[in-house]
Amino acid sequence: MSQIAHNTQLPELSQYRVKGEIPVPVLINWLTLAAVPLLCFFAWRSSLRGDPVTPPLLLTFGALLAVNLLLYLLTGQKTLQRRGFITLITALFTYLAVQAVEDGSAIIWLFAYPPIIFYISESRVGVIACSGGFAGVVLLFSPLGDTIFNAPYTTSFRLTMVAVLAFEMATCYILDQSRRRSKLGLLKLAADFEFAAKHDALTGLANRREALGQLDSEHQRFLRNGRPFSVLLLDIDLFKSVNDSHGHHVGDALIVLVATTLREQSRKVDTLARWGGEEYLVLLPETDSGEALKTANRIREAIAAKSVTTERVTVRATVSLGVASIHAQESIDRLLQRADEALYRAKTLGRNRACRYEAGPAA
Ligand code: GH3
Ligand code: MG
Ligand code: MG
Repeated sequence: MSQIAHNTQLPELSQYRVKGEIPVPVLINWLTLAAVPLLCFFAWRSSLRGDPVTPPLLLTFGALLAVNLLLYLLTGQKTLQRRGFITLITALFTYLAVQAVEDGSAIIWLFAYPPIIFYISESRVGVIACSGGFAGVVLLFSPLGDTIFNAPYTTSFRLTMVAVLAFEMATCYILDQSRRRSKLGLLKLAADFEFAAKHDALTGLANRREALGQLDSEHQRFLRNGRPFSVLLLDIDLFKSVNDSHGHHVGDALIVLVATTLREQSRKVDTLARWGGEEYLVLLPETDSGEALKTANRIREAIAAKSVTTERVTVRATVSLGVASIHAQESIDRLLQRADEALYRAKTLGRNRACRYEAGPAA
């Protein structure tokens, strides 16, 4: 769909990627691949100590993480993969902390939680998960936690753990905000550049290069499905005299007025381009020359009915249009040449008219 010409808004930011940034699904896959052998290793160590509960649980977490990975590889569902991973690591870290696995040292794994969560999820989810995790640790270390879980952590360890965890979470939040702002800035810049490269600054219409790209795409489509498309070449009549009589600023206003009218009179699928100074190109997909001629005359009448008003004058303009539809085995260059010849004919016949290029010497 060639909607770019109508769209004077910036392109969707989600279509861009910041170079060098690891995609979230890839990071989750790598973390899973690192976690599974680690869980097996610690399950084995716990079994050596004769612990009957921890090894099967750690192995179950490992197996579930592996299933999550496999599901993603099979279905490609990113949201499911992310949610599954967050749920599993939240449950795993809670278990490690509450059961004081590895003589209570496994709770230190909680420090891996904030950076992972902030990276793989939205900022809001990161804040909620970290706040919940922090509240959970505080509860675990509280007198109430002692009565429920009876975890064997010393008082100094508890104090240090809570303070450092709070410090780490706050730091992760600040870094994450800064990372997101920089990323957004870069994406906006990329979108700005792309827009500027494809559009005309004065009118916001597609520029000639973009229009040629759209023409090429439409030509490829025509070669595949055989549905003809048409082009209109539009030129403002006696525009030089507008500049000469009223100044360039009025000329510019007229150029914008024609662009606005073209937008009003076109379908979303049409490509509208500023082809040159006061020349425009309209690409009409799946339109035969009869329909194109009707469109050309509708545009011509709409422009003739409008005017630019300044403090001193009201300026009207008319336009001439050349219409041509693609023929089998014809190049884009030849099509444009025919449209140009039809435009020339419209000018020589007296301007303010649309002419269709008919094949043969009578064109
Ligand atoms: P015709 O009916 O035969 O097309 O006559 P014309 O005077 O429109 O044609 P011509 O090609 O001789 O003049 C086009 C003029 O458009 C010349 C140029 O100075 C002016 N022009 C080109 N780009 C711009 C622009 O961006 N702003 C303004 N104000 N004028 C421009
Ligand atoms: Mg011209
Ligand atoms: Mg002109």
